[in-house]
Amino acid sequence: MDQEHLDKLEQLEHDFDHALPEEVTRDVAYYRTILSNIIMIGGAPNEDWILIDTGLRRYKERILHACEERYGNKPPTAIILTHGHFDHTGSAKKLAEHWNVPIYIHEKEMDYVTGKKAYPPGDPTVGGGLVSLLSTLFPTKPEHLEGVVTALPDDGTLPHLKEWRYIETPGHTPGHISLFRESDRFLIAGGDAISTEKPESTWAMFFPIQHVYGPPAYFTQDWMAADKSVKTLAELEPDFVIAGHGLPMQGGFMKEELKKLADGFIDNAIPKHKRQ
Ligand SMILES: [Zn+2]
Ligand SMILES: [Zn+2]
Repeated sequence: MDQEHLDKLEQLEHDFDHALPEEVTRDVAYYRTILSNIIMIGGAPNEDWILIDTGLRRYKERILHACEERYGNKPPTAIILTHGHFDHTGSAKKLAEHWNVPIYIHEKEMDYVTGKKAYPPGDPTVGGGLVSLLSTLFPTKPEHLEGVVTALPDDGTLPHLKEWRYIETPGHTPGHISLFRESDRFLIAGGDAISTEKPESTWAMFFPIQHVYGPPAYFTQDWMAADKSVKTLAELEPDFVIAGHGLPMQGGFMKEELKKLADGFIDNAIPKHKRQ
C-alpha cells in the first residue's frame, strides 16, 4: 500500500468520524457515506437547500451532522431521491420525519418505495468482484415511504430548484432520474445512471480511481434503456459530474470518459451475456 492510498484511507476514516461535507461548487456539496453519496444543493450557510438522496439506513445521525456542518440548524426544503434503491433511500424516512419535509421521487419509482413492488434481486453473475457477490445479500424489499413521499411533476421541473431540471435516466431502475443545471452545466447523474468508481470493486470503495463507468451491473434492470440514458447524459456535455458512487469529476478528461462510455456502452459496459 503506497502513501497515496494511506492518505486516502486516513481521509476516509476522518470523514467517517466527523461526517464533513465537501464543497464541489459554491452551492453544491456532497457527503460520502461508506457506500454512496448524498448531495446538498444550496449555498451555505443561509440559502434554502435541498438534499439529494439519503445513503444507507443507520446514517441518519451522520447525515444530519454533515448537513448541520454546512447549514447549521436550517432544515432542507425537501428531499429528492434519484431512485428507490436501499443505498440511496435508507435514511430518507427518518430524515424527513426529523426535519418535517416532503420527499420527492419519480412517479415510475413510486411503487418501489411504497411497498407495492420489490426490485429484482442483485445479479451476482455480472460485474465480478466481491460487491457483486454481496449484492445478493443487499436488501431489495420495498421501502415504506407512503405518507411522506410525493411524485415529482412530470414536466422535468423540480420543486424548489428553479435553475435545475430532471432528466429521466431509466435502465438501472425504471424511474431513475438525473439532475442538470444549464448555467454551469452541472450534472448530478444520480444515483446510478453512471458511476465515477468501478462499481463492482471493493477496492474502489476505499480508494476510488476516477473514471466514468456505467451503472452498477448487479442491480441494473434494463441495459438497453441504460445505454440510451448514458447517451442522453453525454449529449448534455456537462462540465461537472457527481454520481451516487465515486468522487465528483470535472473538465476535459471527464468529458472524454463520458463520451467514450456512451459510444462504447454496448461493447464495454453491458455484461457480455446480457447483450441481446
Ligand atoms: Zn441503484
Ligand atoms: Zn447506488
